[in-house]
Amino acid sequence: MAYEKERLLMVEAQLRARGIKDERVLSAMEEIPRHLFVSEDLKEMAYDDRPLPIGEDQTISQPYMVALMTELLRLKGDEKVLEIGTGSGYQTALLSRLASRVFSVERIAALALKAEKALDELHCGNVKISVSDGTLGLPGEAPYDGIIVTAGAPEIPQAYIGQLKTGGRLVIPVGSRYSQVLQLVQKTSSGIIVTESTGCVFVPLLGKEGWG
Ligand code: SAH
Repeated sequence: MAYEKERLLMVEAQLRARGIKDERVLSAMEEIPRHLFVSEDLKEMAYDDRPLPIGEDQTISQPYMVALMTELLRLKGDEKVLEIGTGSGYQTALLSRLASRVFSVERIAALALKAEKALDELHCGNVKISVSDGTLGLPGEAPYDGIIVTAGAPEIPQAYIGQLKTGGRLVIPVGSRYSQVLQLVQKTSSGIIVTESTGCVFVPLLGKEGWG
């Protein structure tokens, strides 16, 4: 199969060497063909240590950032997960392997359509993509065990806290339009615990509860 060596190298040099430990995340990233989520002219760079453009001024995140965010969700396999910002669908494909059901929201219809095609090709049958303003979450399918937001927010939209199960985990970059800090939000029976992870740079989360 194409790019197998590149994928293994990506996992060892970019992920394991930098401290990603969740074996389920590592093996899913070793399996999922990332090159199917970028355009033909960028396939050779699909396993490089960087984000790449996916059209519509959006990007597929750097592999390490994808791994780190996914690891923070601590998925065991039986969870219902909400993803905000489908983009290329690469992160969605990983979640599809690691959780039982995945709902993903994208505001740009053209990206959602392309992502859907790639996910169909990989037989990710437990994924449903919606086109809407993800700053409002996806109330119809709530509550979720995990919520992952792959665009930068000015602050944490309240809808996400409301749609998270008690015991659930939310991973979201929060900060200015041009740089953010990755936050892990845990919803416990006695309240919310926020833990800051690394600095990061995401495209803006645009919408009613995001950037105007
Ligand atoms: N996880 C994606 C990252 C895509 S970049 C990947 O790996 O390819 C972030 C995406 O968030 C963009 O596609 C952008 O259109 C989308 N986005 C921004 N604001 C949004 C909103 N309010 N609701 C849904 N999607 C949004």
